[in-house]
Amino acid sequence: MRNTWPNTIARKAILDFKAYDARGGISNALHLDANESPWRPPPVKSADNFNRYPEQQPTNLCARLANLYGAKPEQIMVGRGADEAIEVLLRTFCEAGEDSILVCPPTFGYYETCASIQGAGIIKAPLNPDFTYDEGLIKSKMRTAGSALKIAFFCSPNNPTGNAINPQIVEEICAEFSQTLIVIDEAYAEFSGQDSFTDKLEKYPNLVILRTLSKAYSLAGVRLGAAIADPRIVNLMLKVLPPYPIARPVEVAVMNALTPAAMPIHAARLKLWMSERARMETALTASPFVKTIYPSEANFLLLEIVEDEKLRRKLREYQIKIRDFRQSLQDKMRLSIGCPEENDIALCAFGVNIPVTNPQRTAEAHRKTKETDIAVRVNLDDPSKISVHTGIGFYDHMLEALAKHGKFGLVLSCEGDLEIDAHHTIEDCALTLGTALSAALGDKAGVGRFGFTIPMDETLANVAVDLSGRSAMVFKGIFPTDHAGGFPAEMCPHFFESLAQTLGAAIQIDVQGANTHHMIEACFKGLGHALAPAFKRDGIEIASTKGVL
Ligand SMILES: *Cc1c(COP(=O)(O)O)cnc(C)c1O
Repeated sequence: MRNTWPNTIARKAILDFKAYDARGGISNALHLDANESPWRPPPVKSADNFNRYPEQQPTNLCARLANLYGAKPEQIMVGRGADEAIEVLLRTFCEAGEDSILVCPPTFGYYETCASIQGAGIIKAPLNPDFTYDEGLIKSKMRTAGSALKIAFFCSPNNPTGNAINPQIVEEICAEFSQTLIVIDEAYAEFSGQDSFTDKLEKYPNLVILRTLSKAYSLAGVRLGAAIADPRIVNLMLKVLPPYPIARPVEVAVMNALTPAAMPIHAARLKLWMSERARMETALTASPFVKTIYPSEANFLLLEIVEDEKLRRKLREYQIKIRDFRQSLQDKMRLSIGCPEENDIALCAFGVNIPVTNPQRTAEAHRKTKETDIAVRVNLDDPSKISVHTGIGFYDHMLEALAKHGKFGLVLSCEGDLEIDAHHTIEDCALTLGTALSAALGDKAGVGRFGFTIPMDETLANVAVDLSGRSAMVFKGIFPTDHAGGFPAEMCPHFFESLAQTLGAAIQIDVQGANTHHMIEACFKGLGHALAPAFKRDGIEIASTKGVL
């Protein structure tokens, strides 16, 4: 065992000791083994199992991340951020005073920090002047270092330069230095066009991938990241990782943020984020303070600055913090990409004149119960993205028609208990959609009250809506059959009632026809048409004599 890789490169102390074995978790047994309290802490609600130690590697969490990253659960070590994975790698493999790591500066500083704390040596193979990886230099340094080099860190896309590593270099290095751990830090992989190296793990057992939920998944405050590697490497690292690193509320927060319904929201945000990166890259060329903008595959831009003192004053004036690298990198600063409104303010500080536009009215709503898990994102000012998945084809079609005719963007995803029936899914989607639309309307500046008459073959629907802030729903119509597709006709009025409730609207519908499908469709389309002018922003006047709606 001792002579087989990766044991040959692990610290002797790690091989010698037996792993601490009080590792938490809950089974059906009577738990009288860990000196825990038998009572839940007050308040009892939502503190499920807080009295019990968690598993060292919570099973559900590992399964979820394995699925997210296209890996197997046994290839994953979850920790408190990717930072903890870096620390554990150093503590597992680098003997103090003997072993070393390789880094390619300028890069993420925590590799060096952990090496210094562990007493490991630091070998540097700096990036080329254009920030690409210097393949020749890396290989020659690694050959010279020999077996004392335990870990080589490559950040891709690299922080702070934003560029990704050429995958061919990684494969060559993995193959040539098969005893050394080749760590690819993919903290920003979601923002990059380049594929993750995860699918190369089977081919190269010495490859270790780092991932984090802190950046693309909006969970920096929750602290969760992962190392993905050969299970033998993971098992050695688990000996070093503390017994209970993942607090139960952390597991809950992560599982809630990564529910299947939430994933389209993450995807929509990512798309917006990257389009904002492109916008900033173009807009900043007009800044008097920016000499060079380095191309980025991450959620930040590295900038070469001129007149830095003047820029610093402007940033202070606008109360904007950006990362200053001038100590280590000549004239460089790193600007994170924010949401459109934040980026507009940043552009002002950078002295870029941008046309004054109203911020887009967007909102997200997430509703999770035992019956349904729903995430909704709406954009009242950009109808280009409409994507609906409820599990009921007919309902998807109706909601898409509502958004299309309402001229608003809609991403809606629902995992509902359709094995029971369609009721919860239809009602809860309506409630969540109403909540999101209401939030996006904000103070309702410029919106109005409208109606629409829509004929569809033999059907005629009259739909009127008043975004009054008061909920009411009146429905007149008799359906000739009790279903259309998988959609129960009785749920049609119930949908509008639920929507009116959370949207804060009065909705009145009068529909006549001889075909249930046409009648329901006309109601949804008609409401869309009535909402389109109601949502439209013409100036800032409020369409009520009272001045508020
Ligand atoms: C932010 C960052 C990390 C740390 O991520 P956490 O999961 O928050 O610890 C790791 N590597 C790089 C390159 C980063 O930029």
